[in-house]
Amino acid sequence: MPLYGGIEAGGTKFVCAIGNGPDGLLAETRFATTTPQESIGRAIAFFREHRTLGPLAAVGIASFGPIDPNPSSSTYGHITTTPKPGWADTDLYGAVARALDVPVGFDTDVNVAALGEGRWGAAQGLDTFIYLTVGTGIGGGGMVNGGLLHGLMHPEMGHLRIPHDLAADPYPGCCPYHGDCLEGLACGPAIAGRWGAPAETLPGDHPAWALEARYLAYGVVCYILTLSPQRVVVGGGVMAQPRLMPLLRAEVLALLNGYLQAPAILEGIDAYIVPPALGSRAGVVGALALAENALEADHA
Ligand code: ADP
Ligand code: ZN
Repeated sequence: MPLYGGIEAGGTKFVCAIGNGPDGLLAETRFATTTPQESIGRAIAFFREHRTLGPLAAVGIASFGPIDPNPSSSTYGHITTTPKPGWADTDLYGAVARALDVPVGFDTDVNVAALGEGRWGAAQGLDTFIYLTVGTGIGGGGMVNGGLLHGLMHPEMGHLRIPHDLAADPYPGCCPYHGDCLEGLACGPAIAGRWGAPAETLPGDHPAWALEARYLAYGVVCYILTLSPQRVVVGGGVMAQPRLMPLLRAEVLALLNGYLQAPAILEGIDAYIVPPALGSRAGVVGALALAENALEADHA
């Protein structure tokens, strides 16, 4: 069995793994994201140190963004316009490909997590599904008709404009670009900013969660109506609040108001909006699947 390398390059941490699936991880490391040079250097060093496990057939990279995922572009594989200090215009793909000299797959963190969930997790056997993460930011990706969502660049599902009743919720939102877009109103830091305490310290019966569920449901309903997904996977640190998932499902049903006559939604909402089966490892495990795809594309 070929051995793959996976890199989940996040804004706060990097996770690297070697293996060929969620049950076949031979080595794993995680470290805080610092400068591009240091972080990418540590990732490359990890793979070099583990050469004794066998040669890597390919590497997959799941990157925070915005990125350029278009292989025919001159800036393919770059992190492009990120506000994260030092990381704008970083050639992540190029640095890894040059250092390791194997086929390299590159995509957004959320698309790659979706790929992992489709291959081994909560979206197995489906060709059209969404993967949403609600954490420090809100990001979404997924697959439509069997292909990862790209188009012009990649979706930015977190920055959807949603209704914001300022009388009920005067919090102005925290998105540096839009203020009260979905991410600005419903990411982890928005919850902390609105209520004056970190999201993980708010009890399950705190009013924060009904509001959070409503905001997330506005987003999820838009994705359902636009992309017609067969399933919606929702993960990220904020979803660790156990009350949130059932509230979100109920809000989605309420907002749809019986319009979609789909049994999968009307009778099976608990199996339609689901947590990631790969949990917080969806990104790095998905990167192994992306590596495998890169190897196949290289042989084609
Ligand atoms: P990132 O988006 O940076 O990858 P995470 O997905 O881990 O990180 O999300 C981090 C966010 O999740 C933080 O805003 C944090 O406050 C929130 N969070 C962490 N644990 C919980 C919890 N148990 N309940 C609700 N929110 C949580
Ligand atoms: Zn925004």
